[in-house]
Amino acid sequence: MEFSLYIHIPYCDSKCPYCDFNSHVVPRWPEQRYVDALCRELDHCSQSDLWRDGIVRTIFLGGGTPSLFSPKSIARILGHVRATWDIRADAEVTIESNPGTVDGAKLQGFLAAGVNRISFGVQSFDDGLLGLLGRIHDGRTAADAVSSALRVGFDDVNLDLMFAVPGQTVEQWESDLRQAVDLGTTHISAYNLTFEEGTVFYAQRRKGKLRSAEEDTEIAMYEVTENFLGARGFERYEISNYARPGRMCRHNLTYWRAQTYLGVGAGAHSFGQSAALRWHNELGPEKYMADVESRGHARVREEQIEPPQARGEFVFLGLRCCEGIATDEFRRRFGVDLDEVYPQGAAMRDQGLLECTEDYWRLTKRGRMVSDAIFATFV
Ligand code: SF4
Repeated sequence: MEFSLYIHIPYCDSKCPYCDFNSHVVPRWPEQRYVDALCRELDHCSQSDLWRDGIVRTIFLGGGTPSLFSPKSIARILGHVRATWDIRADAEVTIESNPGTVDGAKLQGFLAAGVNRISFGVQSFDDGLLGLLGRIHDGRTAADAVSSALRVGFDDVNLDLMFAVPGQTVEQWESDLRQAVDLGTTHISAYNLTFEEGTVFYAQRRKGKLRSAEEDTEIAMYEVTENFLGARGFERYEISNYARPGRMCRHNLTYWRAQTYLGVGAGAHSFGQSAALRWHNELGPEKYMADVESRGHARVREEQIEPPQARGEFVFLGLRCCEGIATDEFRRRFGVDLDEVYPQGAAMRDQGLLECTEDYWRLTKRGRMVSDAIFATFV
């Protein structure tokens, strides 16, 4: 059984005001102890029936800010994975990096450790917007980090960029896209800013200190993204993700195709497709480490996924991808036809929101604009 492996590194230099990820700012992160805990958790997982004979397809070091850790620590984690499981020869191994935390030597160290794809949380090249977003880097630092990564030999470089930021113009957004493409990146994740409950931005908007982008501006930014990147050889393969041919993020495709993944580290989620099981770890890094040190794992909540829920998740995750969902794959997994379970598909097709054929269902361009409302009908 092949699976994807997610490894969460939860520490950050500072907390961005829009961020609701499981990230923690501490005066000094306990790198050695945290790596010890990850290795111990990997050992524990490898002894369970679900993972024992697994083959690792992709590895993703996410956060938080994994690039705060030294190449030596990253090499130790990846070495431990290699000693534990077989890894596909063509495995994609990604590290998320904050441009303000790397230099050429560190990037070279990550490459030597076995990382072959790097994902930079750039968000923007505009210093004013970066200041508003609370980022620790400026536009120059971001561009230098990307150039450095390509120079030391990374073939696959993703940039996370953010649009619909308060005050951002369509021209500024296009300029960010242009700089990302001109630098030679192979993948761009273009996310609109969302105001998540519990974040500083959410509170500021409630108090009227911050305003969301106008709907028209946001729609124009969506259009610019697709047109600009499409004209420069980037293919949109998921609602927010664009790649040069053959450079799609295989790790994230695992999630959208509802395939099996193991997550280790504080707050990491796991999903076993054949067992229809899902669970996640203790969120807080301190509690996570203490739990792993005492019992080998930090699993806090396990959920058996019932067939109706599994079917709904397969559909709404799959519809995020531009290729859509294959009707025969649905039948193979669930033993029933897609249009039998979801008769609303026909109505959505008639409204021009879904393309439904005998072979696949996929969102139309109009459907993508209202994707959240469509997904809600399948859960
Ligand atoms: S660097 Fe990323 S994970 Fe850390 S606080 Fe900012 S957005 Fe969140």
